[in-house]
Amino acid sequence: MGSLRSYRAKGIVLDRTVLGEHDLILTLLLESGEQLRAVAKGVRKGRSRISARCDYFCESDFLITPGKKLDIISDAATVDAHHALGVSPEKVSAAAALCELAALTSFEESADPFLHPILSRALTVLEGADDQPHRDLIVAAYAFKVLAHSGWRPELGSCAICGDEDPLYLSDSAGGLVCKSCADTLPDAEPVSRSQVGWLRSLISLRFDELLNAQIDDETALFLLGRAHSWAASTLSVRLKAMEFALSM
Ligand SMILES: [Zn+2]
Repeated sequence: MGSLRSYRAKGIVLDRTVLGEHDLILTLLLESGEQLRAVAKGVRKGRSRISARCDYFCESDFLITPGKKLDIISDAATVDAHHALGVSPEKVSAAAALCELAALTSFEESADPFLHPILSRALTVLEGADDQPHRDLIVAAYAFKVLAHSGWRPELGSCAICGDEDPLYLSDSAGGLVCKSCADTLPDAEPVSRSQVGWLRSLISLRFDELLNAQIDDETALFLLGRAHSWAASTLSVRLKAMEFALSM
């Protein structure tokens, strides 16, 4: 027999993949910031007492036994189920967009202590976001904060190309704000207002609870979520289905 010991790890359930008739593979964001895929046996159709602790967005304290290919979840205790997310399809959609981004910006055997607390906080604040503009704002802020941390911080000061100090166009391909003359050379550059530029900066600089209490209109919030989506899709080079769905809410 092997000598691999079981261990405990707190994690957030980012995704669930069906495995056979009764089991699931959970994608977890561990407290260390590492991503872990592990098998939860017998949890489909409520067959197991730990089923609820393996639900989407649930933060649990898992007992994990190393396996040959994938580790096995032997037990789980609830840390924070984020129950308030489940009460509305709009909150579920926004939380799914957060977890989709978390799964794409965390990696196996790659610890990063920034990643777990920020997702946990975003999910908690989202529970209290009872209108669509604020849900959009939290998803957009999470996307920009996590991408900026991962090395994709958009240039929101001077022109990303020439350094002009009053850039009022936005271009994902150039990496952020650009001035009028640089914008003329970029097919994806779009004009932005000073207020929109201010909001983009705030998404990175303000805390989630400050954003939750900020006054924001529907149109601005949707603009910010759209920019967060296009920035994430272009920097990560993937299709973000949950975020696309959140944009349609
Ligand atoms: Zn320029």
